[in-house]
Amino acid sequence: MKKYQLLVGGEWRDPSSGAWLESMNPFTGAPWALVPRGGKADVDAAVAAAKAAFCRQSEWRRMTATGRGALLHRLGDLVAVEAERLAEIETRDNGKLLAEMRAQLNYIPQWFRYFGGLADKIEGRVIPIDKPGVFNFTREEPLGVVAAITPWNSPLLLAAWKLAPALAAGNTVVWKPSEFSSVSALEFGELFERAGFPPGVVNIITGFGNEVGEPLVTHPDVAKVAFTGGDRTGEQVYQMAARGIKHVTLELGGKSANIVFDDADLTAAVNGVVSGIFAATGQTCIAGSRALIHRSIYPEFAERLLALARTARMGDPLDSGTQVGPITTRPQYEKVLDYIRIAKEEGALCRMGGAAASRPECGSGWFVEPTIFTDVRPEMRIANEEVFGPVLSIIPFDDEEDAIRIANNTVYGLAAGVWTASMRRALMMTERLEAGTVWVNTYRAISYMSPFGGYKRSGLGRESGAEAIREYLQTKSVWIDISGSSPNPFVMR
Ligand code: NDP
Repeated sequence: MKKYQLLVGGEWRDPSSGAWLESMNPFTGAPWALVPRGGKADVDAAVAAAKAAFCRQSEWRRMTATGRGALLHRLGDLVAVEAERLAEIETRDNGKLLAEMRAQLNYIPQWFRYFGGLADKIEGRVIPIDKPGVFNFTREEPLGVVAAITPWNSPLLLAAWKLAPALAAGNTVVWKPSEFSSVSALEFGELFERAGFPPGVVNIITGFGNEVGEPLVTHPDVAKVAFTGGDRTGEQVYQMAARGIKHVTLELGGKSANIVFDDADLTAAVNGVVSGIFAATGQTCIAGSRALIHRSIYPEFAERLLALARTARMGDPLDSGTQVGPITTRPQYEKVLDYIRIAKEEGALCRMGGAAASRPECGSGWFVEPTIFTDVRPEMRIANEEVFGPVLSIIPFDDEEDAIRIANNTVYGLAAGVWTASMRRALMMTERLEAGTVWVNTYRAISYMSPFGGYKRSGLGRESGAEAIREYLQTKSVWIDISGSSPNPFVMR
């Protein structure tokens, strides 16, 4: 098994604990790589390296914005060359389909190119200030050391969403990937040096959330925390960061509604609902885990949905014919099965799946059968809590108001889907739904160009799109007296 090291100040080193964690392949259930078990001492070293790389005299700070952009472009090109190899690593580490990880890896370069392009378009403003004899302008400045903390479901994509704008804005980074999917991050680490980033601009510390994540978030020299993960962890991270008055971006979970009206193209809607929940084995923050179906088409729609979902092929995620892979981690596998049990106990009707998968093609991996519940009532836990697995609840609604009420009746607000042929209804729904992303007649579309983030408990701030770079900048207002006069010192100017 390959034994990895931590990246600190441009050098690869063993963890100070002298310990390594086994990274498990979710399809085989067996370890396949050893990742360093970092700790506070490693975090301290990484933050010190990132701080040194950010200091006024450093190569990074003296580099022009155009120079930073060029490095990001080069990084994007290197990722494109390495895409296939990195995609395979991600599949071995998190069990998601090679086809899905390949698509992500082939798309990731665009984040580096887009934000590389933005690097030298970060501009302040000259303000036509209301005070005569004074010139006022703003500067947009980087924050300093950014802590990037990422989950296991789309490890490199979600890291790119943070690293690209953070670096474009001129910050330095300490990145802590999930303990369950650190291998691709450590392989990715080599690309920074090859792209020409000065040492210490990006540092990578792997290990547990409490042993690496906490010391990183609470470190006094970390200026900003960019976190993607569950909402409970996000809440803890937010509280810890608050003590240091740090900047924070949180991308948390969801309980997204996929709403199908009776005038929709039902073939497209059935496809969209299946894709929304069973693609990526339901392990996406944007999973459309609640299908809201207009009552007049409910029975027909449910039958068509079941018929399509039953055709999903499970198996080895490296196999191009596989459509539903394993659950990434053993604890997550147990959590998904727990939710299925709870839903049954609460009286939801299990129409499909509802158990661990024991098909021969699933080998010894952590597989859960694609599961569909009907007769789900709004108060049930399955209708409210994020499962993060292939489990769908179907809920009928009577009219537009009813659909909006049910869709918004959640603490989350990450995404929603609307299926309708009516322009009026589509526009009205996009306005009334409390979600950071609303898709109409499509689902799971994302782009480096379009802002992504949550309403309510789904998060704070935005990633991707031109807005995202603002999350890594702070504004300085500069005042210059050009009047040449000496005003009364005892009166505010
Ligand atoms: P977690 O919240 O468990 O972990 C996310 C990251 O935080 C991991 O790197 C984890 O490390 C780290 N972490 C854990 N505890 C702490 C702590 N006390 N202080 C600092 N860092 C800590 O999420 P999962 O990895 O389980 O990912 C799944 C979750 O991510 C889902 O709930 C999903 O909704 C959400 N998600 C949100 C997205 C969005 O953009 N809104 C996108 C994708 C996922 P470790 O792995 O070592 O525990």
